[in-house]
Amino acid sequence: MSRVYNFSAGPAVLPEEVLKEAAEEMLDYKGSGMSVMEMSHRSKVYDTIIKEAEQDLRDLMNIPDNYRVLFLQGGASQQFAMIPMNLMKHKKAGYIVTGQWAKKAYQEASVYGEAVKLASSEDQTFSYIPDCADLDIPDDVDYVYICENNTIYGTKYKELPNTKGHTLVADVSSCFLSEPVDVTKYGVIYGGVQKNIGPAGVVIVIIREDLITEDTLPGTPTMLKYKTHADNDSLYNTPPCYGIYICGKVFKWLKRMGGLSAMKERNEEKAKILYDFLDESRLFRGTVAKKDRSLMNVPFVTGNEELDAKFVKEAAAAGFVNLKGHRTVGGMRASIYNAMPREGVEKLVEFMKKFEEENA
Ligand SMILES: *Cc1c(COP(=O)(O)O)cnc(C)c1O
Repeated sequence: MSRVYNFSAGPAVLPEEVLKEAAEEMLDYKGSGMSVMEMSHRSKVYDTIIKEAEQDLRDLMNIPDNYRVLFLQGGASQQFAMIPMNLMKHKKAGYIVTGQWAKKAYQEASVYGEAVKLASSEDQTFSYIPDCADLDIPDDVDYVYICENNTIYGTKYKELPNTKGHTLVADVSSCFLSEPVDVTKYGVIYGGVQKNIGPAGVVIVIIREDLITEDTLPGTPTMLKYKTHADNDSLYNTPPCYGIYICGKVFKWLKRMGGLSAMKERNEEKAKILYDFLDESRLFRGTVAKKDRSLMNVPFVTGNEELDAKFVKEAAAAGFVNLKGHRTVGGMRASIYNAMPREGVEKLVEFMKKFEEENA
């Protein structure tokens, strides 16, 4: 067996310990005589799996009792519609557009009501986070929406926007559990788990209870109402059972690692290794405003497309895979999520130094 250093933006690297545990339990989960994939979602044994997963997530994020945790499907993209359908009571919401995912959410919301673009960084290819300290926010918006970590461009909000009392909704797909958060600052925190938590197929929604109502937009399907899933503890229909089980294992792994403060420290150290090198390199450079740099997704370029392609190819041959930038921006991107070991980043930088010597 030989494992590569996988810098994919998602689906992405998972902790090796978790994969090994899952392999050991594949044929017989804790004496049940079956795989978690084969068991009823209404069985006692599965009930323990999903409840423990929720409790461990609550412990990790310090989620207050007046927030519900929902394990849903449809990816983060389905939330682009579910959020306006459930929250746009006055048919108006504010969007801060800091990348493609935020833009898609904004466009989808405008299907259901008036989506107001409060700020955008599209003028400079989404390479920074706009100043959100004093935005012009209409009084009657139902919420203010952000994408907290921009996976494709590699920027992150270091400070949450001043929403002027409006409910904050955040897509945290690519920074989920990468550092501590104050859940009380948000109305909704959600993310697809395939970036920083588990396998594709699960999206986690953490939502304040008072936002879960029957009062959804007319025609909202039963399956797209938060209330349906909240009333049934995420078991209205068959949930993505196996994916939730792996997420649960990752939550336990994070607890063993020391929780989110420890992860933050570790993630800052890892990112610093790479950013410090980019700042001193004669060949490579980062592409976004330094103050807004993501700890999770690190885009960089040489300034020469052919050299970029050569780098990606040689890196892959040396065991550093999925370093090609998003198809819409080019260059390179190293995603260094929680499960990427520090050693992976150190070795990547060594490889980049060698490539620089050979090509600069
Ligand atoms: C990947 C990603 C999405 C899309 O996720 P899907 O699960 O594929 O719908 C949305 N938002 C962010 C920030 C992402 O990184």
